[in-house]
Amino acid sequence: MKWVDCRWCELTHDANLLCPPARKILDALAAKGAEGNMPDLDFPDEPIDARLLGLGEDPGDTLIGQLVVQAAVTPVADVPRATLVYTGRTAEGKPLPKWVHIGTDADIANAARLVTSRAELAIRTAAAQRRPGGQG
Ligand SMILES: [Zn+2]
Repeated sequence: MKWVDCRWCELTHDANLLCPPARKILDALAAKGAEGNMPDLDFPDEPIDARLLGLGEDPGDTLIGQLVVQAAVTPVADVPRATLVYTGRTAEGKPLPKWVHIGTDADIANAARLVTSRAELAIRTAAAQRRPGGQG
């Protein structure tokens, strides 16, 4: 018996639980679905000065007063999928929309890593700019 880490149910099980023709169809569907995927953007360089991002110029720009991140589980084709819900309140106290991120375990772990690395970079850079002689 050959065991595989199954991308469809995220369990380790006998490779024969999914016959090769069915696996081929599912892989083709996943490849088709992934065509529109945008890559996670992860800039290794220094953070951009917020003034250069044109903040406030887009009507959708929103200053966050309170960030809420909820953990959830969403069944997708009966497979429980890790889910993050980003929401909260604006600086004026209005409720923010819910941004729902459903993904594989790896997708959600990658999103968490992305937020952590960007936050650490922003904090480190802001702290450096507050020091005497820092760029600001
Ligand atoms: Zn499976």
